[in-house]
Amino acid sequence: MTTSTPSTTLPLTILLAAPRGFCAGVDRAIQIVETALDRYGPPVYVRHEIVHNRFVVQSLEAKGAVFVDELTEVPDGRPVVFSAHGVPKSVPKAADARGLFYLDATCPLVSKVHREAERHYEEGRQIVLIGHAGHPEVIGTMGQLPEGAVVLVETVADVAGLQVRDPDNLAYATQTTLSVDETTEILAALQARFPAIAGPKKEDICYATTNRQAAVKAIAPKVEALLVLGAPNSSNSKRLVEVAKTHGCPAAQLVQRAADIDWSALAGVRMLGITAGASAPEILVEEVIEAARARFDVTVEELRTATENIVFKLPRALLEDRVAAEEV
Ligand code: SF4
Repeated sequence: MTTSTPSTTLPLTILLAAPRGFCAGVDRAIQIVETALDRYGPPVYVRHEIVHNRFVVQSLEAKGAVFVDELTEVPDGRPVVFSAHGVPKSVPKAADARGLFYLDATCPLVSKVHREAERHYEEGRQIVLIGHAGHPEVIGTMGQLPEGAVVLVETVADVAGLQVRDPDNLAYATQTTLSVDETTEILAALQARFPAIAGPKKEDICYATTNRQAAVKAIAPKVEALLVLGAPNSSNSKRLVEVAKTHGCPAAQLVQRAADIDWSALAGVRMLGITAGASAPEILVEEVIEAARARFDVTVEELRTATENIVFKLPRALLEDRVAAEEV
């Protein structure tokens, strides 16, 4: 007679937030680097992390991309790609001055904010940018216009102390990856202090940020702990942790990879939420599920709150090259 050893593996339900992970802007930026590597051969230089994710950066490095902090590190004659976060106008200008061939992987939704800021400036308005100081997207947006044309606010308290040239001649713009709820509060404070302030119909927070935060709000009250796959310098990933904490799951944390997870701290958890920031690839989510399977009897469920089908075209320079190559 055979006896089976009773399983002592505890059950764990993983509730996946959807949408999660890569957005159209990140997909496009990675495709630009990969296409440039195919087209021009390695090395292709990339100014700054193409997107804020070490796994993505290392995968591209393995294919021949070289990441640099500044254009001065790019040798003459090699192509250079600008990251998805956008760059100040001084960067393409410096590339042009050196005759460098560059591809701009700035997300089209960030470029849209740049154009809005320029339009307000041309119409004589000073721009109040809601965003995080030092983030590359904020540096890029402020760098579209001369010094002083854009002032930054990060919090409701900043609005109270804000000094502007003319309170009746202002416009606002926002970073694309902010917390929807916090931005609503900052915007309300701005509109209360400067009733004539102009701005977009909605804030500039992008569809991907909005959808990922809504998906986290839907799963946070249902889970005992929640993991956000993302990098510590990824703005949208950090916002997902904050949103989870304020919407029912205080035990939310950011992890870069499965190896970072302290499973002993999750020993008593039976319902675990998982999501991923817009720059984190799905393979990292799969890696966490596999790591959980080694420790628990795992059931995976998904809660989808939106369907995304946005795709951005590659830059014209790459598309034209592709047409030319196909015609040969
Ligand atoms: S998070 Fe939004 S703005 Fe940023 S790259 Fe993705 S789609 Fe573009």
